[in-house]
Amino acid sequence: MGKTYIIGFPRIGEKRELKFALEDFWSGKSSFDELNIIAKKLKQKHWNYQKKAKIDFISSNDFSFYDNMLDASVVLGAIPERFKNLDKEELYFAMARGNKTNVAMEMTKWFNTNYHYIVPELSRNMEFKLDATKIISEYNEAKEIGVKTKINIVGLLTYLGLSKCDNDNCYDFVDKILPLYEELLSVISTLDDEVVVQFDEPILVRGVNDILLSNLKKVYDRLALVSPKIKIVVTTYFEHINDSIATLCDTPIWAIGLDFVHGKENLQSLDIVGKSGKILIAGVVNGRNIWKNDIDDSLKLLATISKTIKKDKILVSTSCSLLHSPYMLKYEQKLDPQIKNWLSFTIEKLDEVALIAKIFFDGFDSLNNDEAEQYHITKDALVKKSISSLSNDITIKNRIASLQKFQRDGKYEDRIVLQKETLGYGDLATTTIGSFPQTPELRAKRLDFKKGEISKDIYEDYIKSYIDDCIKIQEDVGLDVLVHGEPERNDMVEFFADKLNGYGFSSNGWVQSYGSRCVKPPFIYGDVSRNGSLGYEWIVYAQNKTKKLVKGMLTGPVTMINWSFVREDIPKSTIATQIALALSDEIDDLQKHGIKIIQVDEAAFKEGYPLRFEKRAEYEKWAVDSFKLSVASSFKDTQIHSHMCYSEFNDIIKTIEAMDADVISIETARSGNRLLKVFKKVGYKQEVGPGIYDIHSPRVPSVEEMRNQIIALLEVLPKEQLWINPDCGLKTRKYEEVIPSLKNMVQAVKEVRGH
Ligand code: GLN
Ligand code: ZN
Repeated sequence: MGKTYIIGFPRIGEKRELKFALEDFWSGKSSFDELNIIAKKLKQKHWNYQKKAKIDFISSNDFSFYDNMLDASVVLGAIPERFKNLDKEELYFAMARGNKTNVAMEMTKWFNTNYHYIVPELSRNMEFKLDATKIISEYNEAKEIGVKTKINIVGLLTYLGLSKCDNDNCYDFVDKILPLYEELLSVISTLDDEVVVQFDEPILVRGVNDILLSNLKKVYDRLALVSPKIKIVVTTYFEHINDSIATLCDTPIWAIGLDFVHGKENLQSLDIVGKSGKILIAGVVNGRNIWKNDIDDSLKLLATISKTIKKDKILVSTSCSLLHSPYMLKYEQKLDPQIKNWLSFTIEKLDEVALIAKIFFDGFDSLNNDEAEQYHITKDALVKKSISSLSNDITIKNRIASLQKFQRDGKYEDRIVLQKETLGYGDLATTTIGSFPQTPELRAKRLDFKKGEISKDIYEDYIKSYIDDCIKIQEDVGLDVLVHGEPERNDMVEFFADKLNGYGFSSNGWVQSYGSRCVKPPFIYGDVSRNGSLGYEWIVYAQNKTKKLVKGMLTGPVTMINWSFVREDIPKSTIATQIALALSDEIDDLQKHGIKIIQVDEAAFKEGYPLRFEKRAEYEKWAVDSFKLSVASSFKDTQIHSHMCYSEFNDIIKTIEAMDADVISIETARSGNRLLKVFKKVGYKQEVGPGIYDIHSPRVPSVEEMRNQIIALLEVLPKEQLWINPDCGLKTRKYEEVIPSLKNMVQAVKEVRGH
């Protein structure tokens, strides 16, 4: 048996080849055959990288043209009615992206990652039908180049658990779909004398109930019986599965994958796994960060595991698929070499897994010179990192140690009276969320400036003229509270990260977000502090252009953290405190320069929630505390807003209230007033701006439509408590859509006020 195991590999390519090939195909520049040729080459390359790193268990079917959940829907014939007349790639991409006549299937975040999957739509009258073509051909493609792969398939419970269906309980589909999984395994069993099949079941990490447990038992009892030639692995990741491990071990599967990085609690289940005699795939190398693994720590972890589980029953692995890590360090030529030396992307992680396994199984003496050197370089890098002046800033540490003020002065009830008086806004005040259209011209100017083709002065003059226009437009439209439009920002996190100490940027650290879209999150390697302005001058500039109030915009600590790769040597709460202090200083500068309303966006507040219920309180504590600390410098009559990009507040409303923002704007446009009811139910006191139109579509909503929406909101909350705004920033829209939409919004408010 082998010793090293990789759960899954990124597919987008080291230079994002798949992205560009897909986009060429979509735009008609290339044929599907051409796309396929590129895909084939990429797969071979990815298999070869893993082979070269001496990985024993390499996956097939971890590749996808769009998403593995979507692939599973195709394998099962779970094709929604509206796509029934389509076939092959036309069908596949229509499901993913929609076509002229039909909307795409819904897309949502994969657990607590920034990867998005396509949500299966199941209905009782669907005729499920197996199509194993892709799975078989990918297996054979790998075999042709001498790689005998394990086959990755989304587990049935995870598939159903993440589906939308016309039954109350999607697990009711188990009996319908399980036979297809069995059929699939019998097809696979004809491929070779022995085939390993990996079923991904991360659904288990969210916690289980009796229905899920009994289905778990049933599904794997049956699948394990399909063929003696098939060895079944069930992998889990992102958390522990202590409440389902016993059931899983009670089925005749071959191996279980556990995440010991994000689910250390899995250690408590070793006894159960040991007694069951199953193979343990031990996820010890973090599959979703960018840092070098602490090899000694991983060896210690494995030593602990091997006290309960025999060494010959252990495989060394990554904590999850490497899909969530950037590709390779080779392209990072611009990074400070010291910092680069602390990093490890996908390709480097393969070597880590191999090295750890070699030491664990065969001892240090078995290392050859290269391996011994790799071990020493890694160790040395970690020591240097821990004492480096690049990551440690004594001034900020001291500042935190001597902190006295953790929240702003005054109770909400008193502040709001003062604010209404000084700011003088009326009921149903109109505003926007911050950004205005990022026009092609604006993007071009930013690029020119980045490339050094235009000077800073010319670039900044252009930004000023954008702000001038933006203010004028808002005055003409008749909004009550204006914004500067955020033209200087490419991205709400990167813009600030770039100005803060402790943040770094890769050149090529792309991670797939959905389809062909990738993100390149900045990373926090050191203590974060503010090195002078975070850009408040732009807001002050805008304020000087108008008599109306201009609202200043910042990105909050939780969102800064959730959309970055963060260091792991200090707790997230400490990083959040550091960012909060930087923001607090910026707020102080804003208000000293006459800005009276400041919005601290927490777009990613909800998506950072832990997967396990019992860990939520700890997250909520630092998330709320850091928000409060960020605004601790604000005067009582400085009004603090926050914006959040989601709509379901039912289970977190008390936490949102505890953030103590004077006004929050939220994304409820698509749900009428239904989701607002919880605010009333809990007696939420602060002001709320429920988005009254959906900015995710180019559509211009009519006055009547928005008026009705406002009237519906007024059924739930009183006019004194409501603000009227779109449901998110306008940066992805065009001015041709934005101006008439905002005019209609203002008109709708006028009509409602006139009642
Ligand atoms: N202020 C930001 C904007 O308007 C907020 C964006 C967001 O919440 N995603 O673009
Ligand atoms: Zn938003």
